[in-house]
Amino acid sequence: MAKERLDKVLAHLGLGSRKEIHRLARAGLVYIDGQLVRDAAFKFDPTLCRIEVNGEEVVYRAFFHLMLHKPAGYITSTGDRDGQPVTALLPEEWQRDDWMPVGRLDKDTEGLLLLTTDGELLHRLTHPRWKVKKRYYAELASPATPADVEAFALGFELDGEPLQPAELSLHADPRKVELVIREGKYHQVKRMFAARGNHVTYLRRIAFGPLALPSDLAIGESRPLEADEERSLY
Ligand code: URA
Repeated sequence: MAKERLDKVLAHLGLGSRKEIHRLARAGLVYIDGQLVRDAAFKFDPTLCRIEVNGEEVVYRAFFHLMLHKPAGYITSTGDRDGQPVTALLPEEWQRDDWMPVGRLDKDTEGLLLLTTDGELLHRLTHPRWKVKKRYYAELASPATPADVEAFALGFELDGEPLQPAELSLHADPRKVELVIREGKYHQVKRMFAARGNHVTYLRRIAFGPLALPSDLAIGESRPLEADEERSLY
């Protein structure tokens, strides 16, 4: 990796604004490979050097990934045009301006939302070519039927666009279903049921690719991906 300025690297690692990092460096709290560095413009390769701030080692990471249990009422886009963005739910230490949501959830949809700073990973997880599976739990106005299961399995056209086969499974109460889809068209689940003359009254994403929504991640909470979870996405 090319050499980077100290203030840029430490800001990327979430240690504060550039101004705060200048202050840390001036205060003599930053060591690179054991050498005191007071100049925030100092350049080094963060993948090769040991970074120590305030007496603690800081491990360099190129990218960050979080999972969030999205509540209804928050918008997935990171601008705040039509309501509170999901990033407002993140604790202070994970506030940064380069989070990208991995696929959209509607304002009234709950469930698993991944956030990443890796644009290439985002592309791979959301581009229809890769057919990454998304599992939803839905509650419906009318019971789903075996004919719905068959129609979804065969795939049909939604407003003139063909759909990938989708797996619909019914709970004991057929108004409660799970649906696995392999693409992420606008309002896809709601539109699929609307096309079958039904209506989604509640929607929650319970898995994205290899990652399931953990039962101990309370609604509104978020946490960084564990190392094996992260590996499973790459
Ligand atoms: N499908 C929908 O209709 N809405 C979502 O939020 C996600 C999938």
